[in-house]
Amino acid sequence: MMLVSACLAGIPCRWDCKEKSSARVIELLNEGKAIPVCPEQLGGLTTPRDPSERIGKRVFSRNGENVTVRFENGAKIVLEIARKYNCKEAILKSKSPSCGSKEIYDGSFTGKLIAGDGVTAQLLKENGIRVYTEDEV
Ligand code: SF4
Repeated sequence: MMLVSACLAGIPCRWDCKEKSSARVIELLNEGKAIPVCPEQLGGLTTPRDPSERIGKRVFSRNGENVTVRFENGAKIVLEIARKYNCKEAILKSKSPSCGSKEIYDGSFTGKLIAGDGVTAQLLKENGIRVYTEDEV
């Protein structure tokens, strides 16, 4: 089983209530090989919500609220789900402050990207789970 970002599976869980379907992720779901998760919702954030970006180890919403604990809680729940279903790989949405892998927005809300992982992607990698973006599959 693979973990996949719920927004890639067609679920409108993004901050703006939109989804970002990936044909490959939908295929895996239809084959019964993927579990959709949205770490931001699992961490207790609402949909819709203000967009957030990572600054170092912390995460702030565009209106300046420190939402780090929500992001960390969501990441821990996703890791629990990965362990429960023996997931060794994940396909996560690129550039997200939760799901992004290798590059994320820089915290300035100007669209600038920097090297780094989202909070959930980082925790999964630290625990031996291989993380790919939708562009890598
Ligand atoms: Fe998609 Fe991940 Fe953002 Fe949820 S937290 S909307 S799954 S990118």
